[in-house]
Amino acid sequence: MRAAIFTQIGRPLSIEEIKKPEVKGKEVLLKVLATGLCHGDLHIIFGEWKDDIPVNPPRILGHEIVGEITEDTEHFKKGDKVLVYNAFGCGTCKYCKRGYPQFCEKVKILGVQEDGGFAEYVKVPSEDNLIKIDDNENPIKVAPLADAGVTAYNSVKGIEEDSNVALIGTGAVSLIALQILKSRGIKVTVVGRNPIKLNKALELGADRIIQVKQSYSEDFSARIGREKFDYIVDYIGSDETLRDIVWALDRMGELRIVGEFGGRMEIWEQLLVLRGLRIRGILYGSKEDMINVVKLYKEGKIKTLAVPYKLEEINQAIDDLMSGRIIGRAVIIP
Ligand SMILES: [Zn+2]
Ligand SMILES: [Zn+2]
Repeated sequence: MRAAIFTQIGRPLSIEEIKKPEVKGKEVLLKVLATGLCHGDLHIIFGEWKDDIPVNPPRILGHEIVGEITEDTEHFKKGDKVLVYNAFGCGTCKYCKRGYPQFCEKVKILGVQEDGGFAEYVKVPSEDNLIKIDDNENPIKVAPLADAGVTAYNSVKGIEEDSNVALIGTGAVSLIALQILKSRGIKVTVVGRNPIKLNKALELGADRIIQVKQSYSEDFSARIGREKFDYIVDYIGSDETLRDIVWALDRMGELRIVGEFGGRMEIWEQLLVLRGLRIRGILYGSKEDMINVVKLYKEGKIKTLAVPYKLEEINQAIDDLMSGRIIGRAVIIP
């Protein structure tokens, strides 16, 4: 089979002909129909996660997978199209039992610890993590739900309807989260640098956009004046976006950080206490979140903004993602 292989930090992925994976026991072989390209893949390729999430090359990346069942299993038939909930935990620890296997000590993610979806076939540890999608659904459009969709859903879960919300960043996760919030009638401001992506946010229903030209903290606070937010969700998470951001939170407000650009923040303790603020990290979501986001997609409440590329064009897609040319999600078709 053909696969795009991560061979070394900083090098383009190498398109090679390799052996099809063999499955045994509970494992399931999927023919890959589409796999989304995530910023996480870029963090791996450029070595930005090498200390926390080591990925040992050679490795096939790609963790946002839609595939086709190649042999009947207990719950699926050959030819069924499935979306992969991509956190395979031990199933017995407290995180797995609570439905958040991404925090399991033994978690395996296809495309990180195991080979992923930038290939013609992928081996999945068990069918428990597969969700069937309708035959008439376009796999290219569905693939981003596997990570961007799940994460977006979790990142805005529980936000009350009378809230004032700011989303920082205009990538795929933020633009899906925006649509989820708007489907619930919540007021949303989107903050970012790229004018084309900000316009897309307006088109998708944002009540207001704020374009950052110099620094996030200054441009954002200059534009909002004395206004405060009940929730700020940061899909970037850099030094620059986090600086002074808590000052824009209203009493009992909550900062949720989703992006993984490795920023640090300094917080004045009394601000936290006197305003009763909360700060949370959001990493992926539960399988239930995935089922819910698929439901919203089927109801037509969200678009995934998929931009298709062939497997051979994956390095071009990486380049386009890095330079901000993709409005939504690049999706690789093997
Ligand atoms: Zn990802
Ligand atoms: Zn576990």
